[in-house]
Amino acid sequence: MIVLKFGGTSVTDAAAIRRAAAIVESRRSRAPIVVVSALGGATNILLEVAAQSAGGQLLLALRSVEALRERHLAEAEALLGGTREAHDVVSEMGAMFDELASLAGALSVLGDLTPRSQDAIAAIGEMLSSLLAAAAFRAAGLPAVHVDARQVMITDDHFMKAEPDVDAIAEAAHRILGPIVRNGEIPVLGGFIGTAKSSGITTTLGRGGGDYSASLFGAALHTEAIEVWTDVDGMLTADPRVVKNARLIERVAFDEASELASFGAKVLHPSTIAPAVRLGIPVYVLNSRNPASAGTMITFDAPRRPVTAIAGKSNVSLVKVRSPKMLLAEGFLHRLFKVFEDHKTSVDVVATSEVSVSLTVDDPTHLDAIIVDLRALGDVAIERNRGIVAIVGTGISDGGASMSRALQALGNVRVYMLSLSATGINLTVVVDDEQVKPLMQRLHAEFFERERA
Ligand code: ASP
Ligand code: MG
Repeated sequence: MIVLKFGGTSVTDAAAIRRAAAIVESRRSRAPIVVVSALGGATNILLEVAAQSAGGQLLLALRSVEALRERHLAEAEALLGGTREAHDVVSEMGAMFDELASLAGALSVLGDLTPRSQDAIAAIGEMLSSLLAAAAFRAAGLPAVHVDARQVMITDDHFMKAEPDVDAIAEAAHRILGPIVRNGEIPVLGGFIGTAKSSGITTTLGRGGGDYSASLFGAALHTEAIEVWTDVDGMLTADPRVVKNARLIERVAFDEASELASFGAKVLHPSTIAPAVRLGIPVYVLNSRNPASAGTMITFDAPRRPVTAIAGKSNVSLVKVRSPKMLLAEGFLHRLFKVFEDHKTSVDVVATSEVSVSLTVDDPTHLDAIIVDLRALGDVAIERNRGIVAIVGTGISDGGASMSRALQALGNVRVYMLSLSATGINLTVVVDDEQVKPLMQRLHAEFFERERA
């Protein structure tokens, strides 16, 4: 068995859904289970509809509902026009849109947007896309069976970020998906959506939850692999806009992918695939517009190499706190980080010495208030125009050779802060903003573009 997950861009219209059907066909001998996202952009529109309805803009909301209906019907017509089941699918989708419109109406009366009602509305995107994809696959000659994902994805009732109930999902997956697959058919379900075990009410796993669904279904059934089909070739050794010789990483360790996740490599969020990777199930990121490309395989045991990727980020603020009070004091760091917690600001890179701490933050919104609170702890300095370059590789701290090459490639760039991750696989340096790109290029050249002896 294999899970094939198609993200929004890979099912965004009839042409994309046809490409997805061809990919499913090519995996047919491996007993595929298909998980789909809502049509590209549909979840955003649905959440807007919910907000507008509750915010007194019902007419605007209903106009979006109608536009979304038109879009789905046009794609359905393109995919199914002339087939016998076209009528059934179109009327089932019509019923979902009617339901959406009445939910919008109810929200506008209540004037109150709860997480529960947001989920009820957001879930419609995957309910529609999975119904449409299943019918389109059948029209393309595949034995596809639509399954309401809410029967399988059992969760708690933490709406908008529901926690999956792994045992209940395993039970449901074996009971519902197992027989379909054994029968030579292909289950097609929506990602992202689930049902609260306690109440039977619709939940979602949070934005981007489709990958999480795929990973949980794969883990429940111990599938041989999970393929996440998206619109990029996979993970690259650097951002190609900065480093023109960036190339595809064919295998990446889960830990490396996690270190790289915060650098805007929006391929997928590693935490969402952890359930599968933990069981040794490889996850592939593949491009549905370029299915011949090898993609990137994410596993626990990728080859150990000094450097897997170079990542960079600009517009970072560096915060430095110096305090003699810190010497031999316990709880100092606790008080320091509490300030950031109080201002809901996440800290990225940290380095400390006996009497000073430096750290970086991405989001400067609350920096002024943070500085005021930090002054109670010691002398505070802020440097706003900094950037981060991270050198990530499972072998970067094996021996000293790779590390010294990396440090040498820094040249005479001024370094404000340096940090090696606890896992030893991420060497991060904080430099002047304008040094980020040239430094990434130099490091990439050093590790990927040099003839090695
Ligand atoms: N459709 C959902 C979203 O856009 C889930 C997903 O695509 O993974 O967040
Ligand atoms: Mg998505």
